[in-house]
Amino acid sequence: MDEADLAQEKEVALINAALSARQPRLKSPNGLCVWCLDEKVVADTAFCSVECDEDYHKHQREMQQRLG
Ligand SMILES: [Zn+2]
Repeated sequence: MDEADLAQEKEVALINAALSARQPRLKSPNGLCVWCLDEKVVADTAFCSVECDEDYHKHQREMQQRLG
């Protein structure tokens, strides 16, 4: 294993740590976007688009701020 491999492995470990620290990945129960409830999701996500993803998380943050 050379240094490039080691660096790559470190990178992957960092990404995995960051991902597992986040909330569990959202999944759509029915294959439709969990935000607009209208469009089919992009594979392996719970949203039909980046916009819906952003709006959803923005909404979540606002709710949390309200609670806090
Ligand atoms: Zn959507």
